[in-house]
Amino acid sequence: MSRAGPVTALSRLPASLKARRPSLSDPVQYVAGVGPRRAAALKKLGIQTISDLLEHAPFRHERHFRSTIELLEPGQTATIVGRIEAVRVRNAWAGRRRGRGGGPSLTATVIDNTGRCSLQWFNAPYVTRQVRMGAILRVTGRVSEFGGLPQFVNPAIEPLDDDAEPIDPSKPPSLEPVYPATAEIPSAAISRIIRRALPLVLDQIEEWHTPAYRGARELLPRARAFQLLHVPDRETDVASARRRLAYDELLLLQLAVLGHRRAARSHASAPSLTLTPQIEKRIRQRLPFDLTKGQEEAVREISADMARPVPMMRLLQGDVGSGKTLVAIFAALVAIANRAQVAIMAPTELLAEQLFRNADRYLAGSRVRRTILTGSTSRRDRAATLERIASGELDFVVGTQALIERDLSFSRLGLVIVDEQHRFGVRQRTLIRCKGTAPHYLVMSATPIPRTLAMTVFGDLDVTTLFDKPAGRSPIRTRVVPPLKVDELWSFVRARVASGEQAYVICPLVAESDQSRLRAATAEFERLRSGPLVGVSIGLVHGRLKSDARQRIMSDFAAGRIAVLVGTTVVEVGIDVPAATIMVIQHAERYGLAQLHQLRGRVGRGQRPGYCFLMTDRASGAEHERLSILTRVSDGFRIADEDLRLRGPGEVLGARQHGLPEFRFTDLAADGEVLRLARRDAVHILRADPDLSASEHDALRRALAQRFKDRLAMGATA
Ligand code: ADP
Ligand code: MG
Repeated sequence: MSRAGPVTALSRLPASLKARRPSLSDPVQYVAGVGPRRAAALKKLGIQTISDLLEHAPFRHERHFRSTIELLEPGQTATIVGRIEAVRVRNAWAGRRRGRGGGPSLTATVIDNTGRCSLQWFNAPYVTRQVRMGAILRVTGRVSEFGGLPQFVNPAIEPLDDDAEPIDPSKPPSLEPVYPATAEIPSAAISRIIRRALPLVLDQIEEWHTPAYRGARELLPRARAFQLLHVPDRETDVASARRRLAYDELLLLQLAVLGHRRAARSHASAPSLTLTPQIEKRIRQRLPFDLTKGQEEAVREISADMARPVPMMRLLQGDVGSGKTLVAIFAALVAIANRAQVAIMAPTELLAEQLFRNADRYLAGSRVRRTILTGSTSRRDRAATLERIASGELDFVVGTQALIERDLSFSRLGLVIVDEQHRFGVRQRTLIRCKGTAPHYLVMSATPIPRTLAMTVFGDLDVTTLFDKPAGRSPIRTRVVPPLKVDELWSFVRARVASGEQAYVICPLVAESDQSRLRAATAEFERLRSGPLVGVSIGLVHGRLKSDARQRIMSDFAAGRIAVLVGTTVVEVGIDVPAATIMVIQHAERYGLAQLHQLRGRVGRGQRPGYCFLMTDRASGAEHERLSILTRVSDGFRIADEDLRLRGPGEVLGARQHGLPEFRFTDLAADGEVLRLARRDAVHILRADPDLSASEHDALRRALAQRFKDRLAMGATA
């Protein structure tokens, strides 16, 4: 099968553009067939240059049978080549009068050596130019049947030269890329444009790696990878093309994050905060329990980091309930004992308040001067607090994002701790690090992030993982509850509550807006109170409550004055009430597994066993299957891996704010091997050539500058 080669493509360029061959950075209009209209349509897909075009990766590939007309089978997607033998244009007018707008309908008959078939277009003014008597066309589409003849309805067509080869049906089916597309410019049109562009620029695609380097890693040449991604012969071509391009993409990212980390640390010195035996003894006396093995290990790693005059950049990750807060407070006390200030950021006000209460408990009777700063801090208090922070009068500040607002400065900030870091973007991470001189930096994440994600989102951080949990935890029994069993569920809740236990009920996310979420939670609260849970003391908590009202409800719940707490997901990650044993989640199918796991981590914290009920009306099928994973698996890391596989990285990290870079070629759920390879190689490359100044790294350095020109600049201090 002949593809449009360079010669035919060039011959269709307007004379003014024919003078030179286009380069990768030229606008797409240099490609034949792309006029202002198509250029505008491509722009909406983020494609402006020829290089963008090549990087427009297909979602997947479809098998197209190459067929002769005789062999066409209804239901197939097939490609034929034939000559137009008859064309009939039907009254465009009639259609317009009936308000369908647009152009004529067109019927054509096409023949090859084996037979004839019919082509049908509705409302397609643009094809009338190409479908002319005698024209030779490549026709691709789904085969149907009409009046005893095979028929294509609205097929994709490509005009061919007179000497086009006939189709050889003995060849295997072709693989046609399916691209992200729009109504204005469908996938097939994009494919045609890319095929025309490829031969023009293929020899301009820079190779980043030597043949030996590629050989050792089984990587295709880069230009070849682009060719095969867009025009593969077989499935294995697609796989190896993607592998090479994903490798390059991940290598760049790793070079950027590691380079960034290196730069941040080499330009900045941090206070050396040492854990002396006296300090250690004083801190341990304050702690209400012995540390778990994991906590001991974490404390050791963190205090070793903080003792060095280089900023610590460490991620502390651990499943829900593994006891990260205690480790954070330990680190904070080490810093404060060394006369440094500590800032802790939490993603929500509720969590900031809880963190502050916890800290307050551990610090009771100490001389640590501490405060909390959130969005509900009054303007006056805020101004006063800011001053006390700036003058160094306060040692310890807990807060929300409000903390990172511009006007906040510390006099001797030594340690920044960020809880649930994945909820903050990478940008925010950079911002807080700008405050004061370079503080040590500890990030905590309760979402057990799969290693592949951790290496990309947190690629610039060292990682400590808490694998264990405080002893004496009982397992959480998890059940999927269909509508039929709901009555049983509520009587179970009543029985448990009667024996002194407590429950959370998480309300559905009915819609996007906070307003309607609030309404749903309120309605459910009323319904439960007057129906299934009548007589039980119920509280309602949601994001719209004023901080003190919310605090009152939370402390009523913590003290057992409220037995059942109804809420939206503000009752989420991090809330810690040991007496709560039951977690009911309505419309569980609307959440990711990792998020459900987080929620269920709110119970089973005390001595009594915990229960988690996942209410759903999906009685069977894939959704049910997905939820039932939680009934079998309690390891958060395995659950996160499943989630990554089933729902993709954005979902695992939770909505937009995840700070995850956009990938064109990488599938994090599948490309773990390539990621590890790229990570290892990036470490080696930077060790040998920290600024990529060696000539063998010229191409890489340019690519890196190009890719991250506005973010994560190499060498810039964050
Ligand atoms: P997470 O890692 O989810 O942030 P927390 O720090 O909230 O977990 O700790 C969960 C619970 O475990 C809290 O009630 C905390 O008081 C308790 N806890 C933490 N460390 C220990 C320990 N070493 N021994 C016993 N209980 C602990
Ligand atoms: Mg926590």
